[in-house]
Amino acid sequence: MRSIRRGDTGPAVEEIRSILVGLDLLDTGGAEFDTATETAVRAFQQSRGLGVDGLVGPETWSALDGARWKLGARTLFHSVPTSLVGEDVRTLQERLLEMGFDTGRADGIYGPRTARAVAQFQREVGLTPDGSCGPHTMKALRRLGRKVVGGRPNWLREAEAFRQSGSSLVGKTIVIDPGHGGPDDLGVVVPDGQLRWTEADLAFDIATRLEGRLAAAGMRVHLTRGPSPAQSMTGQERAALANSLGADLLISLHLDGHDNPAADGVATYHYGTGSGVTSTVGERLANLVQREVVVRTGMRDCRIHAKTWELLRFTRMPAVRVDLGYLTSPVDRERLIDPLFREQIVEAVLAAVQRMYYPVEADVPTGSIDVRQLRLALASRNS
Ligand SMILES: [Zn+2]
Repeated sequence: MRSIRRGDTGPAVEEIRSILVGLDLLDTGGAEFDTATETAVRAFQQSRGLGVDGLVGPETWSALDGARWKLGARTLFHSVPTSLVGEDVRTLQERLLEMGFDTGRADGIYGPRTARAVAQFQREVGLTPDGSCGPHTMKALRRLGRKVVGGRPNWLREAEAFRQSGSSLVGKTIVIDPGHGGPDDLGVVVPDGQLRWTEADLAFDIATRLEGRLAAAGMRVHLTRGPSPAQSMTGQERAALANSLGADLLISLHLDGHDNPAADGVATYHYGTGSGVTSTVGERLANLVQREVVVRTGMRDCRIHAKTWELLRFTRMPAVRVDLGYLTSPVDRERLIDPLFREQIVEAVLAAVQRMYYPVEADVPTGSIDVRQLRLALASRNS
């Protein structure tokens, strides 16, 4: 095939120009390959990492051909031996990547890795995991779009919604999620003589202490599970519960464990992909929880991290998970099994929640809040 170039006319040129118009690279269609068309072809080639020569040869043609597909216009699947290629595939890959599914590079080619990522997504939203992207999968992607598509603007809307919800804790709904639970899921387990310490039990104990304190501050508090649930719950089920309650915040409580007993410290996690897509309100909550816990307990600061775990991904409210020390560390464990120390943790998380709703300009240094005083101050402001 001879390259189509400046000066050429005919139906092929007409088709090229109509695709370029669809991509907003050219103002009008027509049957003539003029200078404006050549400029548009060059811009297209540059954006696709092709050789920039302004000519439409086989490679540029196949990229242009793929570019006419908008996501949702056709069913996508892993076709053998020739893979489906197109702009719709690239858009799908970018969305899946933002949500934390591993499609590899967003190259616009529907290969086996993309199909696997689609199947994983389908499993998580309760669809038949066939790895192809048809109307049902598209619908599920759109439904989750609020949280993940478009990145930053969505998080700004979330921040705005949070700001507009007002600075009072009274009447706000918070979900406390004690990690693990159920006969097969005790989390980290450390034997101690005849007894054993489990992450599930300690997390539940901290959750109930926190429940009392938050309720006393006027919040509606829900726990995701009881002390010994009959069945374990997935992150997605916990997220769905919080969503159905219309919660304003979710805090998940875990302890960590490691083969190396020297590993210790506290870390907090919020939703984010590490490539710019992040929950700004979630990040703020993570920061406050992390700093208050570190300052008030003296545990090692293992900092905050962006993660795409189910619980953080499927929740519609700012959500964080905090790993409150290592049960496998003799240093952390000694303290965690002391109820007074767990009270200190509760005080820290409570202060962090208070500060979330405290106006930023009036915020106070970490570790300095007397929670009772703050409650009185807020109560007088809101009455
Ligand atoms: Zn855990």
